[in-house]
Amino acid sequence: MPGIKETLAAMDKEIAKVDARRKALCAGIPQVVLHQYTDLIRTRAPYMVVEVQTTSDGDHTCSGCNIGLPPQVIGDIMKGDQLVCCENCGRILYLADKEE
Ligand SMILES: [Zn+2]
Repeated sequence: MPGIKETLAAMDKEIAKVDARRKALCAGIPQVVLHQYTDLIRTRAPYMVVEVQTTSDGDHTCSGCNIGLPPQVIGDIMKGDQLVCCENCGRILYLADKEE
């Protein structure tokens, strides 16, 4: 059985590897999106990205806080050119792919 020192050394190595990969991935993400995301990690972890729910009457709600979402917000998400956050709880919203 390896000693605690060896285990810690192996963990440090693994962390360094993951950290390097994270940095490489972050390099490809716009700074503004990264900031929004890291802010959310601080305040909303682990539920930072939530699905838009559609009620039986066709209204949309945030599945993070259950507040109703205006059609404008749904339109912005569909455009797909920016991160759209819930105005109430600040979580990033996405629409589930549905084949209808
Ligand atoms: Zn919300």
